[in-house]
Parts: sequence; C-alpha cells; structure tokens
Amino acid sequence: MYDLVIKNGILIDPEKLTRRKGNVGIRNGKIAAVTQSEIHGKQELAADDKIVCPGFIDIHGHVDWNTYCGELSLRQGITTTVGGNCGLSPLDIEAFFAVQEQEGFIVNQAEMIGHSMSLRQAVGAIDPLQPATPEQLALMEYAVEKAFEEGACGLSLGLAYAPGSSDEEVFNLSRLAARYGRVVAVDTRMRTEIDMYSLVEAINIARKTGARVQISHLVYQYGTGVVGEALAVIDKARAEGLDIRFDSGMYTQWATHIGAVLFSEESIALNNWSLEDILVITGKYNGKRLNPEIYRDLRENHPQTSVVVFTGIEEEIYMALNHPFAMPSTDTGAYAPGEGHPQIAGSFPRYFRRMVGERHELTIMDAVRKATLLPAETLGFHSKGRLREGLDADLVVFDIKGIMDKADFGLPDATPEGIDFVVIGGEIALAQGKLVNTRAGKAVRCTKPVYDYNI
Ligand SMILES: [Zn+2]
Repeated sequence: MYDLVIKNGILIDPEKLTRRKGNVGIRNGKIAAVTQSEIHGKQELAADDKIVCPGFIDIHGHVDWNTYCGELSLRQGITTTVGGNCGLSPLDIEAFFAVQEQEGFIVNQAEMIGHSMSLRQAVGAIDPLQPATPEQLALMEYAVEKAFEEGACGLSLGLAYAPGSSDEEVFNLSRLAARYGRVVAVDTRMRTEIDMYSLVEAINIARKTGARVQISHLVYQYGTGVVGEALAVIDKARAEGLDIRFDSGMYTQWATHIGAVLFSEESIALNNWSLEDILVITGKYNGKRLNPEIYRDLRENHPQTSVVVFTGIEEEIYMALNHPFAMPSTDTGAYAPGEGHPQIAGSFPRYFRRMVGERHELTIMDAVRKATLLPAETLGFHSKGRLREGLDADLVVFDIKGIMDKADFGLPDATPEGIDFVVIGGEIALAQGKLVNTRAGKAVRCTKPVYDYNI
C-alpha cells in the first residue's frame, strides 16, 4: 500500500525518453514504484491517460518567497523554482533555506547568489557604472564562498544592471563558482542589435574560469533577429569544450524595472528602441506605452515600475528552444494581482502547447526532458527531474491536448488550462485548479560540485 498512487497515466521518462501507460506509487515523499502493474494507495489520483512526468524546474525565476508569484508558478506545473537570478538575490542564503526548512513554501526553492545588484550593493559598490574596489571585491568573494557553503546553486550576474563591473570582479567570482562546481547564470548586456560582444563576453567567463555558464533568457537578449547568430556562437563554444547552456522564455517581450541603467537615454539609443516599443505593466501608467513625459516621470519618481520591451521576433523563440541545451524558463517575478508580464502565469503551458501540440517542434519526451532533467542536471539536483524509484515525488499530471496558457498583457495572471494535478514531495499541492497544500515545497540546497573543476 502506497501513500499516494497516480493511476493510468502516460508516463514520460525523461532519462530513457520513453512514454508508456502506467501507474506511479509514492511513499514517504519519494517515488516508490513506476509500474504497469495494478497498485493501490491510501489516496489515489486518476490520471485518465493524461501525461505524468516529473514536475517542471524553472531554472530562471525571481519568486524569492513571493507567495503569489509562487502560486502562479505552481499553477503552471512548476515544482522547483530557481531564484536569485539576474544578479538580484537575498544575501543570507542560510537564512533563506532555514526558513523554508521550517515553514515550507508553495513550491521548492533553489537559490543563486546575485552579484550585480545584491552583492555589489551590500559591499558599497553602489554606482553601476564603476568597478568595485579591491576591498569590495574581497568582501564579495567571501560572501560568494559563504553562499556556496550554505547551498546556493550558482552565481548570477546581471551585467546590464552593473555595466561598470570589472573583468576582475566577474572572473574572480566566477572562478569561485567553478571551484565549487556551480553554475554561473549570466544575464548578458543588452547591445543586441550591434554585435555578439555581450554573448562572447559571457562565453569568455567559461573560457577563463572553467565555470559552467547558463545564458539567461536567450530570446529576451537576442530574439530581435540575431538568435541564429547567437546559437552559432554557442555551438562554436561548445565544440571547443566550453560548457555553455541557456534558458529561454516563450514571449517576444521581456520585462524589467524602468530605473535600470538599461533604460538610460544612451542605452535606449544604443539598442535602437523607441519609447513606443516600451509598455508599462505596473503602477499608475499600467497599460500605457512610454512617451517622453511618462518616461521622465517614471525614471525620476517611480524607478521600480516594471515595463516590457516589444522588439522580439516570434519565430526566434522556437528556434532557440529547439537547441539541445535550451531549457524553458519564466523569468517570473513578484507583481500585485492583475499586474505584470504574462510569463508569470503562462510560460510552461505555452511552451508545451506551442512546441509540442501546435508546431511539433519537439516530441513530448524531449519537451519534458528540457523542462525537467536538463535543468536538474545543469544545477545538480540529483533527486529531481527524473521519473525513477527512490527520487523525490515532484510530479505533474497534464493534458497535452488541453494544455493552454490564458495569460496575456492586461490579464497577466490568468490561470492556464490543462494542468490536472501537481504533487510536491509526495503531497498533492494542486488538484484540478484548487490549491491543496501551500507548504509542500522544500529548500533545495546544493552541497556537491555539479561538475569537475579542471582548469
Ligand atoms: Zn531574470
């Protein structure tokens, strides 16, 4: 007798890349049986020929304890979210995990330590256009080592948010990540229409330090007509033996706060954006495009207001996610209900609907692999992202024919359709759209090197 049984599903195994009908038995929070035989549990869920697979791992998010943001992730089938991206993270990683270990959370959380905003701020390197001093860098090195000791799964860089960061800063901190066998997630600078410099710069981190580099939301950086070129640069680096991977969103528009240096007049001109390309998605101008007056008011008085930039080309999304080392991601963040970018509620359902159901870009097995096993391997989550006995019972049951994102600009938090059940650590967290357990999520600490350091 199992604690929980998921019956009569189409089981997708992302390791073997197989699909077969069967049942999953769960005991003590772990997958205890993956079988074609009849099994019984104290609780049983009827999968009714829906897909049953490991829960999705969102390798690039900013949930960071925001319950509503976590709920929108769960409703997409995400069981583990990776926070602290883009150079923005809590500084006390031990406290972050300790609270989750005591109280639980709506989804599992892993965490990066963020350089460009958080660490720099903490050591007094507050001017984003100036490099840190040697003393400040030494303090950051100490903080990064401490974060890795406490279980941070990687270092995140947001080079566009601190363009003054020196090579020394970037390389010294990344070298620590390499030594601990952790990933370096790089939100590359925005100079996208000009050249591949920003991507080559990120790849150089791998070349110079030996770190595994995860390029953040590739389509948001290069989906303006140069994704093909970016993929060629990545493939060439991989052929050289550099460990470069990337994640990508499902939208042609990306979001951040208007106060970022990225939206200085110089940077807007450099990137060839017009104010009309930029839509406000929070606060008093929510739903309006920028004009010179709104731009000035927001930059001066409301720099935390979120905006999205409409410059992407849809085909480039699919091109990017077809790459064997591409993983879907949300870039989700905390917004008040009714505000924000549809990526917060729609990304994974949109990925499965478009990439598998509508466009047949990926088989269901490969689509699941990219959303589960590949991020788990990339980050070193050894007990997640796999449908195997003895591993964590983080699972999702969904209808590949019915899965559908409903979120859009103006309705960014609309619940997707087609996700029947989400199970986290053996507990039913979501059933037919209803939240069942909002404390099933656990801390995901990384304690071992994910790859060998040999430079
Ligand atoms: Zn981000």
